[in-house]
This record gives sequence, C-alpha cells and structure tokens, in this order.
Amino acid sequence: MLRLLVFLFCCLSGVCQADFTLEPYQTQVASNSELPAELLYPEYFRRTDKISLKNLVGEFRSRFEFFVGLVGEPAFRSCFKMQARINKGIERMLASESRLPFNYIDDALIYNQSSPFFEYLRPVPLKTTDDCSFRSFGDLAGSGTVYCAYHGTDFSSRFYLEHQREFDAARPAFTAFDLVELLIFLPTLLIIPVIWLVLKKAILNK
Ligand SMILES: [Zn+2]
Repeated sequence: MLRLLVFLFCCLSGVCQADFTLEPYQTQVASNSELPAELLYPEYFRRTDKISLKNLVGEFRSRFEFFVGLVGEPAFRSCFKMQARINKGIERMLASESRLPFNYIDDALIYNQSSPFFEYLRPVPLKTTDDCSFRSFGDLAGSGTVYCAYHGTDFSSRFYLEHQREFDAARPAFTAFDLVELLIFLPTLLIIPVIWLVLKKAILNK
C-alpha cells in the first residue's frame, strides 16, 4: 500500500517520468500529401474571418485599443513567435547531431523533459492560448513546416510563401477584417472626388 502511495505521489508530482521513446516519431511522413485542413485554414481564422457582429465589434475594438496603445500583438502573432522557438530548436539539433532522430513533432515531443528534443528548446515555447497544439507537416529538415493546429503557420515562413496559392484559395476573399478596413477607409475614398471637384471649380473660377 505504501509503495503504491509513493508511486502515485511520484507520478502526480512529475518526479517519475516514463522513458521517452522516439519510435513512433521515426515513421516516414509523406511530404507530397495534401495540406491538412487545420494547417490550410486554421480554426482561429475560421472564427475571426466570419462576418458577424461579434467579429466586427472585435475588429473595431482591437484597432481602437491599438491606436491608444492598450493592446499588444494578436494571439496568432505570439503563437508564430513560439513556433520560431521550435524551429530554432530544430536548427540547433541539426547543427549538433547532423540529422533529426524524428520525422515529425507534437506537443509530447516538445514538452516531455525526457524527449531528446527538449534540451534544444531554449527558451521552451509557451502556448499562447489553451487551444494551441504544435505539430509539423512534411520534412522538418527541408521543405516541411512547424505549425499550430489552432493558429496555423507563420505567414512569413518559407513554407507559407511556397504554398501561398493554396492558403489563399482556402480562405474567403472577403473577411470581417476586410469589411472593417473598408468601413474605415470608405469615407476617405468618397471625400477625395468631392475635394477634387471643389478644387477644380475654384481653379476654373479664377
Ligand atoms: Zn497557437
């Protein structure tokens, strides 16, 4: 009974950690398969792109908060920075061990302290929101990418730019963001012809 209690205590306190096995991570991944939906059009953007009153109010509020200096970067930007930490860890491991001992990553490989990858993550990537879940697609040492199942992959990454046409096709052409931009700039666009007409009339009357 005492041994059982000690075992339970160790497991709960994280003292006892099962050895990490890389075997499941060494299966070959298909690099020419279709981009998964969670990468192509992530849930975060599915929610925020929708033209709804809630999203429109949110877009106006975020612009106002940004204008008055109340808000920092959006959650997806912060998540992309965390993905950069993972990419840096991959670079360090490649430089140190010349090859990666795994073919894909997930949260277990990143956050388990017994994982051989853990020591290369400095600082350890944090999860921007509870929905964040890090994964990878394709060859991590080459044409693949690290991404978050909720926020997607960095818009400035080589992978994104190489697949931009596919990413663009998956996302609606007109989003809540676009509508708010239009509502803000429409008055400016309308006033320009009026100014032009007034100036033209003034010049002609001279
Ligand atoms: Zn995320």
